Amino acid sequence: MDIEDKFTQLKAENNFRTLPSAVNSGRFMRDGNHTMLNLASNDYLGIANNHKLANQFMEKIPPNGAKMSAASSRLMTGNFPIHRNLEDLLAELYGAESALVFNSGYHANTGILPAISDSGTLILADKLVHASIIDGIRLSDAKFIRYHHNNYEQLEHLLQEYHSKYEKIIIVSESLFSMDGDKADLPLLVKIKNSYQNVLLYLDEAHSFGVFGEKGLGLAEEVNCISEVDFLVGTFGKAAGSMGAFVICKQIVKDYLINRMRTFIFSTALPPICMEWTYFIINQFPKFQYEREYLKKISTALIEVLKACGYNCPSSSQIVPILIGDSSETIQKSEKLRENGFYALPVRPPTVPPGTSRIRISLTADIRTEEINDLIEKIKAL
Ligand code: PMP
Repeated sequence: MDIEDKFTQLKAENNFRTLPSAVNSGRFMRDGNHTMLNLASNDYLGIANNHKLANQFMEKIPPNGAKMSAASSRLMTGNFPIHRNLEDLLAELYGAESALVFNSGYHANTGILPAISDSGTLILADKLVHASIIDGIRLSDAKFIRYHHNNYEQLEHLLQEYHSKYEKIIIVSESLFSMDGDKADLPLLVKIKNSYQNVLLYLDEAHSFGVFGEKGLGLAEEVNCISEVDFLVGTFGKAAGSMGAFVICKQIVKDYLINRMRTFIFSTALPPICMEWTYFIINQFPKFQYEREYLKKISTALIEVLKACGYNCPSSSQIVPILIGDSSETIQKSEKLRENGFYALPVRPPTVPPGTSRIRISLTADIRTEEINDLIEKIKAL
């Protein structure tokens, strides 16, 4: 099929995408003269729009002190002290042996998984894991089976069947799922993996980092199982209001990744100024407890309203999907929300399974109570 035919098909299925005309303006999105509250960002703690924090950070930068580019991979000349400082800070916060920082969550997932697996490896991944994880698995030599979403009975059957046939099995899950806003049962996952000698746990905390746990380290912190996770991946582009990602792991794994991880070795390191900002924020993560609690409060209120309106809402977090099913109805309803001043976007296949199109609302801690109340009224009228 050529590109034009593919476009025709995408349009017929209501799944054709274009870049949005609305532009980001702090907590809002502006489309011409129309202003809408941004309900589609991952800035869960409101840090990316926090001018006070940005100004405090800028004041700390000495004259001529801003390094805007690493200009090379970290293995060449792009390794600055701040990369190491940030890794040390992360390892200390997590009480772990080591941390390694990457350019993005996409680099992390597409780089770590191929590096740590070979043809003697089986990867068992939740059906709803993020595209970057799927791409990482595809780039690896591992065999690969996806279990039904959060179906640990099936996972246990698969482990019973395959554990003696592979040298190593890696269970891969997100802790907070990006499209449904529901959580993995981490204590159970840990229990399952600990039943076998050759099973490891790879956890993507992209959407929970900053949001859960007393120090804001994520769901593994909240349920007290950090040390049981073999590869704990977090990202800085969401609640941390920055850019990049990291893995918490053993020192030997870090050393191995530095030698084997292609997306780490063959890509220019993040600019030191960006790392400085990330460090500045992560150092304060434990202080954002008020924001975490407020976010939980408004999320719970919205989920309750959706359920009362008859929507099936799997979420137990700040990611709140309005599950509609049909793509054109989803587009229509999300347009109505935008007309009413709320910038919430439709999510359609292939991002989500066919027949599960939805409006994905992601709440942030800088949304005001009166704005949430107004949103609730508009949702009721959809
Ligand atoms: N993992 C998950 C679960 C994600 O949702 C995303 C991005 N939305 C990523 C990884 C990729 O992270 P990044 O945006 O830093 O590339």
